[in-house]
Amino acid sequence: MERKSAIVIGSGIGGIACAMRLQSLGFATTIVEALDAPGGRAYVRRAEGFTFDMGPTVLTVPHFIEELFSLEADHARLGEPDFPAHVLGDDRRILSGISGGPNTSRYVEIVPILPFYRIYFDDGTFFDYDADPVRVREQIARLAPEDLDGYERFHEAARAIFERGFLELGYTYFGSLRSMLGVVPDLVKLGAIQSLFSFVKKYFKSDKMRQVFSFEPLLVGGNPLKVPAIYAMIHFVEKTWGIHFAVGGTGALIAGMIRKFEEMGGTLRLNAEVASIDVAKQGRKRVATGVTLQSGEKLTSDLVVSNADYATTYLKLVDKAHRTINRDAVVKFRKQSMSLMVIYFGYTRQHGDSNLQHHNIILGPRYEELLTDIFDRKTLSEDFSQYLHIPTITDPSLAPEGHHAAYTLIPVPNNLSDIDWAKVGPGFADKVLTFLDERGYIPGLKQRIVYQSFVTPDYFEQTLGSYAGNGFGVEPVLTQSAFFRPHNRSEDVTNLYLVGQGTQPGGGTPSVMMSAKMTARAIAKDFGIDPCIVNGVPVKLPDAA
Ligand SMILES: Cc1cc2nc3c(=O)[nH]c(=O)nc-3n(C[C@H](O)[C@H](O)[C@H](O)COP(=O)(O)OP(=O)(O)OC[C@H]3O[C@@H](n4cnc5c(N)ncnc54)[C@H](O)[C@@H]3O)c2cc1C
Repeated sequence: MERKSAIVIGSGIGGIACAMRLQSLGFATTIVEALDAPGGRAYVRRAEGFTFDMGPTVLTVPHFIEELFSLEADHARLGEPDFPAHVLGDDRRILSGISGGPNTSRYVEIVPILPFYRIYFDDGTFFDYDADPVRVREQIARLAPEDLDGYERFHEAARAIFERGFLELGYTYFGSLRSMLGVVPDLVKLGAIQSLFSFVKKYFKSDKMRQVFSFEPLLVGGNPLKVPAIYAMIHFVEKTWGIHFAVGGTGALIAGMIRKFEEMGGTLRLNAEVASIDVAKQGRKRVATGVTLQSGEKLTSDLVVSNADYATTYLKLVDKAHRTINRDAVVKFRKQSMSLMVIYFGYTRQHGDSNLQHHNIILGPRYEELLTDIFDRKTLSEDFSQYLHIPTITDPSLAPEGHHAAYTLIPVPNNLSDIDWAKVGPGFADKVLTFLDERGYIPGLKQRIVYQSFVTPDYFEQTLGSYAGNGFGVEPVLTQSAFFRPHNRSEDVTNLYLVGQGTQPGGGTPSVMMSAKMTARAIAKDFGIDPCIVNGVPVKLPDAA
């Protein structure tokens, strides 16, 4: 039988993961990437001896990574069981052992990070967030003793959501409304449908604990005031499997994934921007037949997977004439996630820097109001909250000797605002760095800084091709979740699939790896490949829908 071929547009983490899986299923797979290096949001900026991961830094669910590195070319391994039964319960045992399994460590070293985050409040107090319930309780007792009881109840409620929402339903592809309606009653019972912030408010009285236990969706583009409480599972995902760092930075993970993909026989083409997805009419059907690059070159394939932004895929790459469901108005009607300003900077090391941790969340004076400014009013506020990442605390090789490499990320409105970033960007970046200096987070930073650059929503729009400069695809709100989120199998064009943060299940590195698996399963089903045979043994899978 002639070997089938696949083209994956884009080399974000979801794109590479899907390409690895397709190669493993037997498709001759080519990734075509517009930029000069792979990674998408996980692109690496190198300057003046510093190495900066431009995007994701917090790696969770390391066995998803292990699963990718254990794929074999032409072996249908989609059916590997994901969640060994022992993962629930004994957090310490789990955290100690499995940063990166034996297959991963052939490509990249992954290490756990503790504390997960140091969360600073505007009054200078902080909370070290990790999986150790004793330490968590001690800190709640110190900062908000009135919330000790609430924490225990929150913990159990979050566990129930994690078990149903992640362990049981994590890989469910909601291709039909029926598939979604079937699980709604359970989610309602668990309280997972209300907003995360209302859920958290039920258990915690103090503003500080409400912030600690609700800020995390911001790291995947969600507004804690609006994301459904199913996102409380993030707390448990992190608690169960820890948070991790790829030695050498996330870029080292990307390099390892590409190496593995190429070893399996896949092809990566860089500087190969796709201008259009080619579609042919076959009777009543419209079928993807390949892509045309900006250079004019045409590549044919049996199927196309787009890892480009969902809205961009339909608005720019698929001709209007071929779209009846994802019409311009429908695509534009969807809410886009917030965007980010990210400032990359290098500075000299100094005694006293050690107060900061590898991951620091520095909350501003306002929480709910600031979120409303960013997501709803779309205004640039005077105050801000930020995530300060200093990987050189763990891995000094990312900076010249005697220096730190850091980035700080500030959630800001997407480009549906009327903010002129070319005008306000430099002043805003300076204000953030001055804040870090004057508030004593990095004392003397302005004198010690030796390198700085920044990106704004314009980078997401113009360089990464994300509609309205969104940072994380369509916004994760209830009305854009599960069945209502863009579909991984195109409803308009046969043999066209989508993968990555704009599709199901959502944004963040573990989710886009799940998305890759869902998309690959849908493709396996459509092409009559049986993904349920693992090393000759039948494995039962949930329906790919
Ligand atoms: C600053 C930042 C920090 C983050 N931190 C974390 C974190 O710590 N932990 C976490 O889990 N998540 C984090 N996230 C979210 C996470 O990075 C993303 O959800 C995930 O990486 C998105 O992957 P993706 O597969 O959807 O593709 P993307 O990374 O969006 O990549 C899409 C690719 O498609 C390419 N492309 C687009 N159009 C074309 C075209 N026409 N032709 C060819 N190629 C094209 C782009 O160049 C790009 O390479 C962060 C995101 C950002 C922006």
